[in-house]
Amino acid sequence: MLSCNTSQRLTNKEKEIILLASDETPFDVLKITTLSDSLTLRKKCTNIDFNKDTAIITHLIKRMKSTLDVESGVGLAAPQIGISRNLFLIMRIDKPEKNVEVVINPEIVSKPEQTVCFERDGCLSIPNVIGNSVRYPWIEVAYFNEKGEKITEKLSGHSRQTDFTGIIFQHEYDHLQGVMFTDKLCK
Ligand SMILES: [Zn+2]
Repeated sequence: MLSCNTSQRLTNKEKEIILLASDETPFDVLKITTLSDSLTLRKKCTNIDFNKDTAIITHLIKRMKSTLDVESGVGLAAPQIGISRNLFLIMRIDKPEKNVEVVINPEIVSKPEQTVCFERDGCLSIPNVIGNSVRYPWIEVAYFNEKGEKITEKLSGHSRQTDFTGIIFQHEYDHLQGVMFTDKLCK
């Protein structure tokens, strides 16, 4: 599945950013309103090799979880803290315990033709902006979790009132392509 996108080891620069503080220390979230941040947010991400860089990626994940916690978000992608890699966190609001899960090297393998207009999308990297975004009502996805297990599943929540797990996944997946929700506002 992932053969067309070869994973590369983390660079020294990336390791430096990740290991700059303890694993409980949140990252600063990059903001689209800052020029240097916006250049990073607009970059397309590459896959990571979780099996080879396990210790550092585990440190990265812990710091990202702290960040999501202090920011009270439902999702956070690695590029939002300056690491241009295919990794994000999503809060599983479709599960009873509403735990935060790690998504590594994801792909959207299937989606319908029709779209929905999701109400009140927002982003930790775009301060004070809320807007309705064009989204798919469901997606079939494949990714690796933080245990290195391959997961394939269908995420169908797209209601702001009940469950919008599928929308969170789409929003975070877009970050890995350098895409912001403000690029896909409903007409
Ligand atoms: Zn976002």
